[in-house]
Amino acid sequence: ETWETDEFDVIVVGGGPAGSTAATAVALRGHRVLLLEQQTFPRYQIGESLLPSTVHGVCRILGVEEEVARAGFKPKRGGTFRWGRNRDPWQFSFALSPRLADPTSFAYQVERSRFDAILLDNARRVGVDVREGCRVKGVLADEERVRGVNWTGPAGEIHEARARYVVDASGNGSRVHGEVGGRRTYSDFFRNIAVFGYFAGGARLPKPNDGNIFCAAFDEGWLWYIPLRDDLTSVGAVVGRDNAAAIQQDPVTAWRGLIDSCPEVRDLLHGVPQSTEAPYDQVRVRKDWSYWKARLWRPGMVLVGDAACFVDPVLSSGVHLATYGALLAARSINGGLAGTLGEGRLFDEFEARYRHEYGLFHEFLVSFYDMHQDERSYFWKARKVTHVDATEREAFVDLVGGLASGDTSLAGPGQAGARLTTTASELDQAVGRLPDSDGLRNPLFESASIRQVFQEGAVLQERGVFGGPLEEETPLRPGGLVASEDGLTWVAG
Ligand code: FAD
Repeated sequence: ETWETDEFDVIVVGGGPAGSTAATAVALRGHRVLLLEQQTFPRYQIGESLLPSTVHGVCRILGVEEEVARAGFKPKRGGTFRWGRNRDPWQFSFALSPRLADPTSFAYQVERSRFDAILLDNARRVGVDVREGCRVKGVLADEERVRGVNWTGPAGEIHEARARYVVDASGNGSRVHGEVGGRRTYSDFFRNIAVFGYFAGGARLPKPNDGNIFCAAFDEGWLWYIPLRDDLTSVGAVVGRDNAAAIQQDPVTAWRGLIDSCPEVRDLLHGVPQSTEAPYDQVRVRKDWSYWKARLWRPGMVLVGDAACFVDPVLSSGVHLATYGALLAARSINGGLAGTLGEGRLFDEFEARYRHEYGLFHEFLVSFYDMHQDERSYFWKARKVTHVDATEREAFVDLVGGLASGDTSLAGPGQAGARLTTTASELDQAVGRLPDSDGLRNPLFESASIRQVFQEGAVLQERGVFGGPLEEETPLRPGGLVASEDGLTWVAG
């Protein structure tokens, strides 16, 4: 029985970083937004290591940067890696130049329950009608477009709500993403399994890198070590799916065993007990997280965040892609509601840019895995570029092909492969130059591929700090659109 009908400009499904970002950026333009979240916040989520573009770019545009800064999250200057040819750990610092005191060259390690709640409360503050404990069941659509959703409230009562646009930001477990672009395409290359939990402390890397994420490759895969608080460390193992049965049967034993077989991480945790504080007292498992969709919008509906796509945890790109994709969607929605440009043009811009950004990270991360050599290890041998299966490569080229800006490497399957190989050696060489670097320039950012991967993030940061990019923004494609001055909509390029 349906006993309530409501009209909104936009309905957002899910209150994670993607949902809060989309809802806030639309509400800031004065539109009526309903956000439905099935859980009651604060709720647990994985994905604790952020990139600067989220903290200084998106959060600034949303008006929540200062509150995030006051929350006491651990500042993160970059990543420390035991990865690649070099047996010694090396640093990936966000600072372009290690000597430049750039105020935006850091991010945070966050307890997601707190971070996500700050973003959701901020959405409420700017006027979004946020309803927790409300689960979306399906969308309302006709031949022309999606027109709303139906959902159940906290007492199980059924509702219907209508809007010009529906944003699916309901994450990896979305029930409605199939309404756009059909099934997900899963990556074979990144089809790993993760088992993760928490320790009540742990040694820290020497200052000033004590807030870095530490990623250590070992025989079975790699481990992350994230300092969340002095008395809390997130530790997770990413391994091949051949370990799935053992992990699912006894996650705690599997997790401890994997940590024990990686001396670099084991030693940091010597004598440190597992956390007994909820929700960190559990060991959790996630698998099959790497996928994308053939389409990201149809009239009346868009997909953002994990509902749309996700690559891999290794470079902390998840929340960046989620918040960036949501901002892109909000720009198109704001344009559509204002009626300034045609809907097709607006939403094609969203999709082109989102795919492009996803494509850069996908390509970069394949190379990042390729860079680690370990001939004795099944996991690492299977993660060579030569093992990116032909259908995956073709599907991937379809995904980004023709959309990337002047990037001819993405034009055809053969070329994409060649490009990936080059990138891995480029990465390796850049890492090799780190120990001799003069402290003036970061060799990692001299690598074209790394620069490209972080370029869009840098534009976002500049926009957050200076109100616009330092260099004039150029359209991604001929005839494409560029962001408005406040970053909240598109204007003709
Ligand atoms: P979510 O954060 O999942 O939010 C979706 C929300 O939608 C949830 O609150 C959910 O309750 C709600 N919802 C779901 N269904 C419904 C419904 N039917 N109705 C209403 N509400 C609904 N990213 C990083 O940036 N850094 C990392 O270090 C990192 N590590 C990771 C490690 C692993 C092992 C994995 C798998 C991922 C990692 N990620 C990381 C990725 C990160 O977790 C995600 O990219 C990010 O959480 C996506 O945000 P989101 O807003 O799209 O989705």
